[in-house]
Amino acid sequence: MNIGKSHSTKVNPLLQYVLNNSMREHPILKKVRMMTMEYCHNSMMVSSEQSQFMVNLAKLIKAKKAIEIGVYTGYNTLNMALALPDDGVLVACDISETYTNMAKPFWKEAGVENKIDLRLQPALKTLDDFLADGQAETFDFVFIDADKVNVDAYYEKSLLLLRKGGIIAIDNVLWGGKVLDPAPDDEDTIALDKLNKKLHKDIRINLSMLMVADGLTLAFKL
Ligand code: SAM
Ligand code: CA
Repeated sequence: MNIGKSHSTKVNPLLQYVLNNSMREHPILKKVRMMTMEYCHNSMMVSSEQSQFMVNLAKLIKAKKAIEIGVYTGYNTLNMALALPDDGVLVACDISETYTNMAKPFWKEAGVENKIDLRLQPALKTLDDFLADGQAETFDFVFIDADKVNVDAYYEKSLLLLRKGGIIAIDNVLWGGKVLDPAPDDEDTIALDKLNKKLHKDIRINLSMLMVADGLTLAFKL
């Protein structure tokens, strides 16, 4: 799950080759990654190659309004904010002041803090606020990467907020391989497996499930 994050020599040699020949990491992003690698819970950080891929997707669809559900130390938030146009906005949802306070100085240093709208409250409340505010079908890109028990609710609300042609990226859909368990007994695995099976049949989207990092689902709204 954590491979590639440190760009260390311990990673799988083929992945190392991919990193060596494709990563174009902004120097301040590298600083966030290095700081996070020294910090607790660093396995929560998105892998750099996955983040670069999602940012390229967001650029491809000319995203201006995006949401990240689960910020942690802000690696992907910073990467996405760097890619958004000057009048773009990334709504950053988290409940942890400790984690997001670590992220903020880097957002400032990179000159993108004006593009990041940090909402420190349960992400479901933030999504509900946007829906109540009439912002359905106005967002271009959503990255879901917070608590897993709510993953279906995040998906449903995000789909309402997304415009046609917009993309929802859902992280950790393979959950370290636990989704293969025929009778999982932990609520995270159950929630992710249930969502995976639901999305397979969901006619509101086009779908790809990628074996990138810990599994990344891409839902393209029809
Ligand atoms: N996307 C991040 C990155 O690029 O490194 C990693 C996010 S980390 C896996 C999950 C984050 O979700 C944590 O920072 C945690 O505080 C946050 N979180 C957990 N429950 C939440 C909730 N109900 N609403 C919003 N954020 C939540
Ligand atoms: Ca994750």
